[in-house]
Amino acid sequence: MTTDVKLDLINKRISLAETAREYGLDVHREGYRMVCRCPFCHKQNAFSINDEQHLFYCFACKASGDTIDFVGRMEKKNFGDTIDTLMAKIQVEDA
Ligand SMILES: [Zn+2]
Repeated sequence: MTTDVKLDLINKRISLAETAREYGLDVHREGYRMVCRCPFCHKQNAFSINDEQHLFYCFACKASGDTIDFVGRMEKKNFGDTIDTLMAKIQVEDA
C-alpha cells in the first residue's frame, strides 16, 4: 500500500474530532465550528476543528495541520510512525 493510499484511508476512516476526544479534549460544536481547549498552548476554545476537511487550527498559538499532524504532535512521532499508528487503529477496528 502506498503512502497516498494510506493517507486517503486514514482520512476516510478516522475523524479528527473523535481523535481529539480520545486525547481527552472537550470537543464541542460552536456555530459551524468544532472547538476545544488547545492541547498545545492550552488556551480555552482556541482550537478549531474542521472534521469534514480533517484540519485543525489554533487561533492562539497558530498550530495547524491535519489528522496526521495532530496525532504526530500528540504522540511525538514522526510522519511515518504516525501513519503506522493510525493504520494499526483502523485494522483493530476492522478485526
Ligand atoms: Zn494553541
